[in-house]
Amino acid sequence: MNLSSTATKKRVALASFEFEGNDFSPKVAGRKNFGLYAVGKEILKSISGHPLAVTGGLEVLQAAPEIEIVPILVAHGGSGGTVEEDFYHRTTNAILTGIRAKGPFDGVFLALHGAMITNHARDPEGELMAAVRQIVGEAAFIAASLDLHAHVTKRTVDAADILVGYANYPHDDAYGTGKRAAILLRDSLLGRVLPVMSMKRRRLLVPIPGSSTLDPEAPLYQIKAVSRSLELGAVLSTSYFTVQPWLDDDEAGCVALAITDNAPALADEVAEKISRLMWDLREKFELPLVAVDEAVATAMKAPVKPVILADAADCVGGGATGDTAFVLEALLRLARNSRCALSLVDPLVASEAFAAGVGATLSSTIGYRLDGRHGQPIPFTAEVVSLHDGKFVYASGPAGGVEADMGPTAVLKAGEILIVVTTNGTYEYGDEQFSSVGIDVKRFDIVVLKNGMNFRNILHHGMTWMLVDGIGSTSPKLATLPWKNRATPFWPRDKLLARDEH
Ligand SMILES: [Zn+2]
Repeated sequence: MNLSSTATKKRVALASFEFEGNDFSPKVAGRKNFGLYAVGKEILKSISGHPLAVTGGLEVLQAAPEIEIVPILVAHGGSGGTVEEDFYHRTTNAILTGIRAKGPFDGVFLALHGAMITNHARDPEGELMAAVRQIVGEAAFIAASLDLHAHVTKRTVDAADILVGYANYPHDDAYGTGKRAAILLRDSLLGRVLPVMSMKRRRLLVPIPGSSTLDPEAPLYQIKAVSRSLELGAVLSTSYFTVQPWLDDDEAGCVALAITDNAPALADEVAEKISRLMWDLREKFELPLVAVDEAVATAMKAPVKPVILADAADCVGGGATGDTAFVLEALLRLARNSRCALSLVDPLVASEAFAAGVGATLSSTIGYRLDGRHGQPIPFTAEVVSLHDGKFVYASGPAGGVEADMGPTAVLKAGEILIVVTTNGTYEYGDEQFSSVGIDVKRFDIVVLKNGMNFRNILHHGMTWMLVDGIGSTSPKLATLPWKNRATPFWPRDKLLARDEH
């Protein structure tokens, strides 16, 4: 090793700790829920070639001859309720101990979701970021990539120099976002720019299904376009965070963030402009919900198949348990002879199917076992069609390359309805829960996806979809959720009180 050349390099610590929390979910995530977890040099192998934010960051920094990267720890856990306290502390301690032991550093690159919660930490990423700042000192640059649903707090903004959020929803730009954050970090380290951030928050929550950036009519499409158009001259980066809406936190709300090259007033002006636009377009985020019986009847008559029924209120990818069975109940009652496919998390039924074996007829009850607040298990009789280990790897999206584990998984058939019964819930990016057990959803009449956004990833020409009016920890009906900690008025709950906000 040429010590004289490494001595002059800018040293950057690299770490990730990604998890999206949900205060309305009963789930608790620990080490086994983190499909990607690697420490030190093994990180390079485990993230190489994946479309992850941390990989994008790594590649940019690796390509800069003036920079030496020190990988510390990466962890990717998808989404759920809270992160187990002990695992959270062990992981953050490992990151902080690693940074302390392997320093000093000129910069730190972090890939975070931004909406993690634990039982005791309302703002774990802000806590982590502040602790990192304490170790590396004021002179170092700290950059982080964040999910579009990050809860960006004042503590996070105070501790960091560079924060860049995903621009797209569905999220297909985690890798590119990591790159954008790392480019700003590189340019800051090399003295090309001096990043200054401004963050503006609105007392505003918006429902997931109306937040697509794919549809030119959608509000977030317009917000994205305006944000990009503002990235001129000294404006280095703009981000808009629609925040994970199921955080029962008085401070959580839509945020706009701008980074300029040493122009604080300009950063304020740009962040205010984007934040104001998010507020002005707030009503356009609401999409109609269809009662389940009506949705099934309409889907059966649709000329182009399959029709997607999006059960957004029970989305594992947003933290829910994925075990409400009211759509299955409606299909068994109304569409038994239509080719339908849906998935449900029910560890008991999965184990019963394994005990019965392929070809057996299983009569049991299904659903509502993990989150019993929303209903009682419903009776069914079905044939056990196939049994699987439930493992797959995401091909793309913000968890691209990360392994998912549905656990023992059974495909059951009741009439013409195929039910994929999994032991564990897994984040839904496309139709992995179906394709990994050999089901091609394109061959069906009705496909139920427990998701309010990513079902768009499998739409093809002419296919239609409906949002089913459902129940669960990821309900889009934000105004009526059982909020406990939101004392300050916010849209959409306090429409009258919030009218003066602008
Ligand atoms: Zn997100």
